[in-house]
Amino acid sequence: MNIKTPAFIIDEAQLVANLTKLADIRKQSGCKVLYAMKALPCSRVLEIAKPFVDGFAVSSLFEAQLAQEILGESGEIHLTTPALIAEELYELTTLCSHINFNSLTHYEHYSPIVRTQTSMGLRVNPKLSFLKDDRFNPCRRYSKLGVDIDTLWKSNCLESQQISGLHFHTVFSATDFTPLIQTIEKLRHYFGTRLEKLHWLNFGGGYLFHSISDCQPFIDLVIQLRRELNVAIYIEIGKGVVGNTAKMVASVIDIFESDGKTIAILDTSINHNPEVFEYQRSPEILEHDVKGTNSVILAGGTCLAGDVFGEYQFKHPLQLGDKITFNNVGAYTLVKANRFNGHNFPTIYLQHENGELKLLKSHTYNDYQQQWQ
Ligand SMILES: *Cc1c(COP(=O)(O)O)cnc(C)c1O
Repeated sequence: MNIKTPAFIIDEAQLVANLTKLADIRKQSGCKVLYAMKALPCSRVLEIAKPFVDGFAVSSLFEAQLAQEILGESGEIHLTTPALIAEELYELTTLCSHINFNSLTHYEHYSPIVRTQTSMGLRVNPKLSFLKDDRFNPCRRYSKLGVDIDTLWKSNCLESQQISGLHFHTVFSATDFTPLIQTIEKLRHYFGTRLEKLHWLNFGGGYLFHSISDCQPFIDLVIQLRRELNVAIYIEIGKGVVGNTAKMVASVIDIFESDGKTIAILDTSINHNPEVFEYQRSPEILEHDVKGTNSVILAGGTCLAGDVFGEYQFKHPLQLGDKITFNNVGAYTLVKANRFNGHNFPTIYLQHENGELKLLKSHTYNDYQQQWQ
């Protein structure tokens, strides 16, 4: 198949491998696994994930609606968001099996109107910082995410029968379980036997299970907590499910010199992967060769001067029409993409385990026109 670039290609074998690993950990530890669909909410990805997980973790009404469409009656939907809106609450409670309040204010306002079938939890902020960059750190000072652990300790919320669980989410792209173990220690130190009154604990996401070779510390922790506290344990993983399952293939559409350096313009831009610009990251490029002697600045095709991916080395001089492949772009790319400058979204393909490519979605002028009419 001749692919149309820019192409966002989802690797089904890798996705299934990641999900199989999580299903294995689920089986060994007895934890429940949710896919945090905000990372990549493609219906096809949700369909593939469905048999491997207990449900989906969502952060809005739209995500909850899509989750429900895919899961039908056969899965759990856990909502965690600072953006709970009164007008949406009734519909959310019909869609979600679990709702985690982000603050005591929301808990006090909304818990009386949540249906009895919906399990209510509180997002607790354990105030343990594991991330140097405050832009990702839910436990930063003056955080807006979760009830401060000291405030929760002073309140009598956990005594009430209404709260069935505690939720926390404190890391991003973690590759070992030290933060988790320390967080659990702190929670047990604060709340002790009060935790036994709960039905569940949700450890959030942020762990890259697919790239952690030894998951035994996690399995041991879950088994221990299930035994000692008699609670169900949930994890809700986004990037650890889809991060390494997609690549983006772009074409070189122009090439020229600027102040003595070679610039290659691609038919993609930072608007297909906004975190490159937001966090000034250099994305991983498959064709980059550290020993290559042809240095090229790869740039996007929008009018923004800073729409640049970075300077990379290539074995051969780049030419018009050459393909450039961005690896590991499954999470937080497409879902944040926009059509700035009227540039289209990437075409989305699924690569089957036998290598065959299937077109999942191509966007047209109509989609663009619809958005702005
Ligand atoms: C973003 C988020 C997740 C998923 O995080 P990943 O880093 O993609 O695994 C899970 N829970 C909450 C509350 C989140 O905000």
